[in-house]
This record gives sequence, structure tokens and C-alpha cells, in this order.
Amino acid sequence: MSERDDAAAIAVVGSVAFDTLETPAGRADDELGGSATHFAVAASFFAPVYLVAPIGDDFPDAAREYLVGRGIDCSGLEHRSGRTFRWHGRYHEDMNKRDTVHLDLGVFAGFAPHVSTAIRRAPFVFLGNIDPTLQRGVLDQFGGARLVGLDTMNHWIAEARAPLEALLARVDVLVINDEEARELAREDNVTRAARRILGLGVKRVLIKRGEYGAILFSADAVFAVPAFPLEEVFDPTGAGDTFAGGMMGYLAAGGDVDERSLRRAIVYGTVLASFVVEDFGGRRMRTLTRDDIERRYRQFVALTEF
Ligand code: AMP
Repeated sequence: MSERDDAAAIAVVGSVAFDTLETPAGRADDELGGSATHFAVAASFFAPVYLVAPIGDDFPDAAREYLVGRGIDCSGLEHRSGRTFRWHGRYHEDMNKRDTVHLDLGVFAGFAPHVSTAIRRAPFVFLGNIDPTLQRGVLDQFGGARLVGLDTMNHWIAEARAPLEALLARVDVLVINDEEARELAREDNVTRAARRILGLGVKRVLIKRGEYGAILFSADAVFAVPAFPLEEVFDPTGAGDTFAGGMMGYLAAGGDVDERSLRRAIVYGTVLASFVVEDFGGRRMRTLTRDDIERRYRQFVALTEF
């Protein structure tokens, strides 16, 4: 990797998974998914990505080849004996709601990520949705990251609140959905919830609101974007991670982490997420091009101009 590339590199830790997905549009089994996979694929449209996660004996060469083919560095995929993480999700008619039907930790049991020296040099770090204690273990290995993003979910807010809260003071952007933000802050109003979370020491809170878009809160600014209006949503799985990956990928490629860049990055994240929901799991990303992304970005600008 060249010096220039290294300055834009992103390291992501999270789950690499096989998902069973049930939505009002149908069902898919054994789809390559996981928080880190969706993030990495989206970010790889913009910047070099290092993927850190455990995989099992059942992880096929074809899946690794796909990721490597997207330019994703897979040296941080740790092969462990056992099954790859599996998740089975079922969406309601209102696709903003979903239930976890089944979750099999597989090779995550006892996983303690070790990050290589090359990966530690990545200036952008994303701690995908996994146990906050594991997230901390990864962050401890990065000395001077320029920007740290973190995602979490209800399960960890309920089961691991103390380590999660302790981690927030070291995070630049917390990416979280509105229901989780309310739960973390113990506050129903989303704006007040964001203020409370900022009080825990995180620099910015980016609240995802599914088909209603996203709102960025910092100490002195608020920025809101709608979601890209789509006539058909096939499967929302991975939308949140794809959103975060698009956003951090764009930031890393541009090199600036000021408010203005962050706002534009959020629009790119929104655009990437609008594609991933058009098909099951991450299928749509396999055919997506940079031209498609730019075209929809321009449509988004026209949509929000007044
Ligand atoms: P998203 O729709 O962006 O929230 O992400 C969905 C992805 O997260 C799926 O591909 C799942 O494999 C993964 N996932 C679901 N639950 C968990 C969990 N508890 N820990 C880690 N990854 C998870």
C-alpha cells in the first residue's frame, strides 16, 4: 500500500456472518453479511479497508475472494475452528421493525482480536456492532487514530451498558438508530436523547431513522438529511452498516474531518444505504458502480435543494 493510501485507510472490526433474512418481499438463506462486511464493502468504494473479524471453517473461498476483489485487505480475518457467526432476522410489514429469530455466536465465543502492526496504522477506525469489551480491546491497539466511529445495538445497551458508556468518551462519531439512542439515554425525545449521549463524552451522535433519514448532533450544530425516497425496499439488512461505511469511506478518501466534510459524507452514506436495501443482504453491492453512486448523489442534491 502506498503512503497516500495508508493516510486514507480504514480499519473495521465487527461481525462477518451468514444471514438468514425474511422480509415481506421474500426469504434468503446463508447470505454473506455481518456488520463489518457491510461496512467494509461500502467503504471500499472510496478508500482502502482492513477487515478484522473471526471466521469459521465453513467460510468459503468465494466469499474471501469477493472481498479481496473489492480491494479489502482480509489479513485481519482470523480463521478459528468452529462455525462462522450466524444471524436470522425477520422484518415486520413495517420494515423499520425487525426481530432476531436466532443468533449463533460461533467463532465469536472466546474471540480476542489481535490487530497487526500494519492495520494499527490505519487513521480511521470503525468499531462495528459487537460486544463493547471487544470493541475496547481493539481500540486500545490503535495509538493515534484520527477518527473513531462506533456502532452498537439494544442487546449491548441492555447487557453491557457500563463498558459501552466508558468507551464513548474515546469515540468521535457514535452511529446509532433512534430506538437505541432512546434506550441508551433513557429518554424518549430523540433530540434530548442525543444531548444526553453527548454528555457521556462522545463528540458527535449520528442518529439513523430508517426510511426517515439521519440527524447529526454535536455540541454546537445539528444537521438532518432525509433518506433517498425509494418505491421499493427489498431488505433493509445492512443499511446501517452500509451507511456508516459510505460515510467513513468518503471522509477517509477526502482526508478532512471537519463539519462540512462530515455533512457531505453523511449524504454519501445515505446514498450507499439506498442501494443496499434494493436486494437481499449485500447482493446489490456486487453490481454497484462508482457512476451509479455519483448519479444518485446528484439526484439527492436536487432533492434537497430549495
Ligand atoms: P444492520 O442491518 O446494519 O443493523 O446490520 C445487520 C447485520 O448485523 C447482519 O448482517 C447481521 O449479521 C449483523 N448482526 C446482527 N446482530 C448482530 C450482533 N448481535 N452482533 C454482531 N452482528 C450482528
